Amino acid sequence: MSVLEVKDLVKDFTVRKGLKRSKLRAVNDVSFTLEPGKTIALVGESGSGKSTVARMIAKLETPSSGEILLDGVPSATRGRGLDGYRHDVQMVFQDPFASLNPFHSIEHHLERPLKLHKRAKGRGELEGQIHALLERVNLTPAEVMAKRRPHELSGGQRQRVAIARALAPGARFLVADEPVSMLDVSIRLGVLNLLARLQREENLGVLYITHDLATARHFSDEILVMFRGTIVERGPSDEVILDPQHEYTKLLLSASPDPGNQGRLRDEVRAELAASAAGGTVQDPGRDRFGTAGL
Ligand code: ADP
Ligand code: MG
Repeated sequence: MSVLEVKDLVKDFTVRKGLKRSKLRAVNDVSFTLEPGKTIALVGESGSGKSTVARMIAKLETPSSGEILLDGVPSATRGRGLDGYRHDVQMVFQDPFASLNPFHSIEHHLERPLKLHKRAKGRGELEGQIHALLERVNLTPAEVMAKRRPHELSGGQRQRVAIARALAPGARFLVADEPVSMLDVSIRLGVLNLLARLQREENLGVLYITHDLATARHFSDEILVMFRGTIVERGPSDEVILDPQHEYTKLLLSASPDPGNQGRLRDEVRAELAASAAGGTVQDPGRDRFGTAGL
């Protein structure tokens, strides 16, 4: 079975204060295993080291020590091995406004990875694949969306493009670093539902990075709580939230706002998930649940 394994990952940064240089351990001995069809949430406050973990997995940062294994094999840091790794492991960043090039059409953004990873031959096949990707992330009609430029899209739509681009190489694992924290509250659920659907229906493994415990609980199987670079608590999502053991988790929970609104949203998610797990609902294929398509 295919797995993405992170083993004893450490990252030290050298920081300067005036003339003095000191070492900052941003990530300290982080280990976990991500399986296809599962979501792991990495939760912690700003500065706890979450993005550094993501960047090491995405090979944008080199670990000081530790390993990243794909299917049991240490992942390459360059050359063809790295290309192969990038087929399988892709990243969605926090800022949907910074991640797309304003001068290029949506089509262009998807065309590049498809070509780079040799996913399509010829113009017709390429176009077909671009449209299929847009449909997978509910950006329809695909022919219309393909021609748009980033400024014509909302933040939520841009994040869907970023997800489509991550899927383009045929990714089996997605690292989503605070994928909805810069979006309007009203459209966050649509994007998270999309990730949940891909995870479930396409057997994607998702590392969901967030500071929001409520969505971590509802969209992930397992929660890792990170504090100053170290995983201080981990376990099945419900257990971590309902019976936190570590003081830091308790603190995060007490600080986490849970207005009635969010609770209601969660109940809706729960009901929908239960219904679809039971095979009860027939979904309009063009839309996410709650009709949030294209938001
Ligand atoms: P999070 O994503 O949880 O907010 P980060 O991984 O971005 O946390 O940062 C963890 C710590 O590492 C912070 O103290 C941050 O300032 C530091 N850090 C991150 N990147 C660098 C870097 N390139 N150079 C020096 N320090 C860094
Ligand atoms: Mg971050």
